[in-house]
Amino acid sequence: VKSKNSTAIVEHISMPISIYNTLSGTKEEFKPLIKGKATIYVCGPTVYDIPHIGHVRSAFVFEVIRRILSEYCDVTFVRNVTDIDDKIIERALLERISPNEVAKKYLSDYRSVLSRAGLTRPTHEPKATDQSSLKAMHQLIKTLCEKGLAYDVSGNVYFKVHAFSSYGKLSGQRMDALLENVRKESGEGKRDPLDFALWKKSKADEPAWDSPWGKGRPGWHIECSAMSMYHLGESFDIHGGGKDLLFPHHENERAQALGAGKGFAKVWIHHGLLTVDSRKMSKSLKNYVTLDEVLKRYPLDALILFFLQSHYSQDADFTWEKMNGFHEAVKSFYRLFKETQGIASKAGASLLKNEEGILLASLEDDFNTPKAIACLFKVLSKANEFLKQGKIKEASGCAEWIVEHGRWMGLFADGIKNDRAKKTVSDSRLKDIIRIRDQARRDKKFKVSDLIRSRLEEMGFDVNDKETESKVTLINDCGDPELRNKLRNKLERLHKEIDK
Ligand SMILES: [Zn+2]
Repeated sequence: VKSKNSTAIVEHISMPISIYNTLSGTKEEFKPLIKGKATIYVCGPTVYDIPHIGHVRSAFVFEVIRRILSEYCDVTFVRNVTDIDDKIIERALLERISPNEVAKKYLSDYRSVLSRAGLTRPTHEPKATDQSSLKAMHQLIKTLCEKGLAYDVSGNVYFKVHAFSSYGKLSGQRMDALLENVRKESGEGKRDPLDFALWKKSKADEPAWDSPWGKGRPGWHIECSAMSMYHLGESFDIHGGGKDLLFPHHENERAQALGAGKGFAKVWIHHGLLTVDSRKMSKSLKNYVTLDEVLKRYPLDALILFFLQSHYSQDADFTWEKMNGFHEAVKSFYRLFKETQGIASKAGASLLKNEEGILLASLEDDFNTPKAIACLFKVLSKANEFLKQGKIKEASGCAEWIVEHGRWMGLFADGIKNDRAKKTVSDSRLKDIIRIRDQARRDKKFKVSDLIRSRLEEMGFDVNDKETESKVTLINDCGDPELRNKLRNKLERLHKEIDK
């Protein structure tokens, strides 16, 4: 890991990260398929409702993983959007709008919630109904039919589970046990209750797309197999999602890809689930908590601290009472930042070196954020000791250390509360905006890219377009905090506009 604004802390030649792989059931040293690169696919949302904080935690888990891996290599991160599904069709009937309008509306909600949670957009965010996605699905289904692993019953295509010998390996289930628990998925002409739909024939009033098997729509599982390999290649490094997706979704994804002779994901990461007051979130239980509700009462950092205090693989239980505790903790960090603001810092406290080692080792050990967070608290209490002794420069050194390392885990990016991090926020927003613009250029959406360009230039950036990427620099960067703050707000606004 290299610290961005100080000297290199540790120069790693290899990648010393270990990850618990659901597939092998063990913690493994992470060895990417291509040196210096990591490819990650994460199952994204089905967009039919306002996202709750469980969705935010899920996205946050992979944001932290992405950030940590990014310190070592180039990360390509894909998160899909399921924009056609039974739930979307049901919602459309309820809201008296089209399924497409439902998907658009809730995707926009989802993006804006993640943006408010400080999360950047994935490298690619394919939708199931994108032409490229559908084409990739059709190709994959065709291959499965040719290999005798799928069959077509008058426009419904099913995967033949018994014909794929390693079915159940990922989720650790035996075929006979599965048969007992199988939820009968409705489907005409299925030959075996375990078989699942790859392509569904559409009913008269349902949205439909052309396919070699007639008009219909994709099954949920085939979407992810096809979209992940379309963007990342037949073999890629990491596939992630919530524990609730392990079976049948991920098991089926894997069966489809391996059945078609592809390598697919090497490492499977599953995160725990979020409950509220020990119960699954649901609107009928009135414990459906949204990000807005949390942010009305607490700074974002308090929620992030709550996320980070449990290991990603564990379930986490949200309560308002716990949030009060995290709020107090965050306030004590803010107090330190305020008291050391503008004070030249003196680094080199031996404690920092020691904590640095522990923090890095924790994050490298299957992204152990609870342990890493403990280091931040330890440095905080040391800083408070320094303050008591009147050693304000040393305290300021600790504060700088906390911000720098908190940033790796998404903490302290809120510039309103913490002056030191302003630069970080504008940087991550700017990166995101540049990436979206570069993608627009590659997609030949020049109206969009020109518009973003002129807005960036208005803000004082120099935009230099290279073939597929661009270089953006701030012309007169005097480092003035007030100017930076204004710039940060402008970038924030531009980012929101682009999202819309
Ligand atoms: Zn998926």
